[in-house]
Amino acid sequence: MDAARRHPPPRTVAPGEDSHLSLALINTAFPRPSGPFDELSDAGAARAWLVGRDLLAPEVACGEPESARLCALREALRALFEALIEEAAPGAEALESVNAALAQAPGVRTVHWTDGVGLVVAERRPGADPVAAALSRLAEDGVDLLSGGEAGKLARCGARGCVRLFLRSHAARRWCSDRCGNRVRAARHYAGRGGDR
Ligand SMILES: [Zn+2]
Repeated sequence: MDAARRHPPPRTVAPGEDSHLSLALINTAFPRPSGPFDELSDAGAARAWLVGRDLLAPEVACGEPESARLCALREALRALFEALIEEAAPGAEALESVNAALAQAPGVRTVHWTDGVGLVVAERRPGADPVAAALSRLAEDGVDLLSGGEAGKLARCGARGCVRLFLRSHAARRWCSDRCGNRVRAARHYAGRGGDR
């Protein structure tokens, strides 16, 4: 996929992002010591992210309104994922936003009777809005994750200042990346040395 090679994610990938684009979307924004990082910082970046994940054809335009919709879905999905982790109800707006994205389903099946053939199942694509279709796929993926067998593995990184979400590859995993794990271990080491003095 050329687009992905042209726009490689400039960061480590948290466990679960490879199999769940909704998780990858949520983790496109997080604070860093050098300042907030946002992989969808403008319309061009948002478009590159969608194209790089095969959610949008390279020739499709994606401007400010579309990138704002993508960022709004990112916030709504994060609210739902965190609600699951914290077992606390998400805001009504987050639910509305995800439901609105789901309603833009890219295709629906229809069934017809054709004489001489019988039942014919066809796919109808009512949406002429490719960005809406991409958002609906991301929302679907999020709902699949939240309602599927892996939902219990969803966790937030335990490193201070990190808000990335990931799927625990094993029960004891607490960090989204080796980088965060090393950072916490280094901080503990430093704190221990400080205490000795
Ligand atoms: Zn982390």
